[in-house]
Amino acid sequence: MNTARLHIDLQRFRRNLETVRQALGPCELGFVVKDDAYGHGLAPLVSTADKEGVRWYGALDAETGAQVRETVGAHTRILVWLLTGPDDIAHAMAADLDLGIGSLELLDEVAAAGGTPHVHLKVDTGLHRNGFLLSQWADACARAADYERRGVLRVVGLWSHIAEASSEKDDQARGEFERASAIARAAGLTPGIRHLAASAAALARPEFRYDMARVGAFCYGIRSAGEPALPDIEPIATLEAPVIAVEDTRVTVGIGALDGLTSRARNLLPVSTVDGQRMIRDVGEVTTDIEPWPHARVGQFVSLWGRRAAWTATDLADALGTVGEEVVLRVAPGLARTYE
Ligand SMILES: *Cc1c(COP(=O)(O)O)cnc(C)c1O
Repeated sequence: MNTARLHIDLQRFRRNLETVRQALGPCELGFVVKDDAYGHGLAPLVSTADKEGVRWYGALDAETGAQVRETVGAHTRILVWLLTGPDDIAHAMAADLDLGIGSLELLDEVAAAGGTPHVHLKVDTGLHRNGFLLSQWADACARAADYERRGVLRVVGLWSHIAEASSEKDDQARGEFERASAIARAAGLTPGIRHLAASAAALARPEFRYDMARVGAFCYGIRSAGEPALPDIEPIATLEAPVIAVEDTRVTVGIGALDGLTSRARNLLPVSTVDGQRMIRDVGEVTTDIEPWPHARVGQFVSLWGRRAAWTATDLADALGTVGEEVVLRVAPGLARTYE
């Protein structure tokens, strides 16, 4: 293919999955695939993970969850946690998704939906990104237990989301999660799956693992901002573009800001060429100019960031004051994805 592309190394993806799963030990991996698998393309990644034996997926919304279900069939559990009302709940239930629930209103709607959906009650442990407040938690558990007795839902999970920004805040959140778990037990709930951590806390701190960890970034090889790379976790994606014009003073490649290359990469990002690294000189809407190299030819490819490039997405993100996910998600959905 002779156009710019985000190239994904599925072999490297399998190795990351293996590294993450070994590190988690008996704790289950819930592979997080929101935002089209962080821009990598949902179906190829989910079917690869499925072949590797990954049995839990975190999908954010019903639409994404239904796509995962279409890709993997009936033998997996798929958790969604952004539900917006009865239609959305019906959509999720039709795809046999597990429902992350953090408000009484949604709990009532789920109970009224018909069937016996699997519910994961979410407690807010300080991040304030929905979830029951601890002050409502006892009521929420009592109501959920009542619904369970009536057979209109099953509470299979308890969970929360933490900032992973400071150990102290995370410890505090974990303390609240423990209190919430005790309250749930006292209400008669017996959820088999507790989950709290995402990539950073799950890999670094065993006590945050519980029964499942919801890991996105590290599976894609996106390291945390300002942190060193973990052993045997590497980026799986490379942003690549073809040379489309060669002049004495510059080489032009067929990728630009409209494809998701930030114009702030100018004079910042060293690009990998067949002759080593060259600096970006200008980012236009659809083309980018790079310092020339000897024997540059139309059709050669350069790597801008990622696996086969000088910088990873997070290297660029660190220089821009953002996070690696943001750099990857900026890649235009319309840009080609290739897999090998
Ligand atoms: C995105 C997300 C995750 C995954 O976070 P990573 O840092 O990418 O591992 C986990 N849980 C929730 C609720 C999320 O929204």
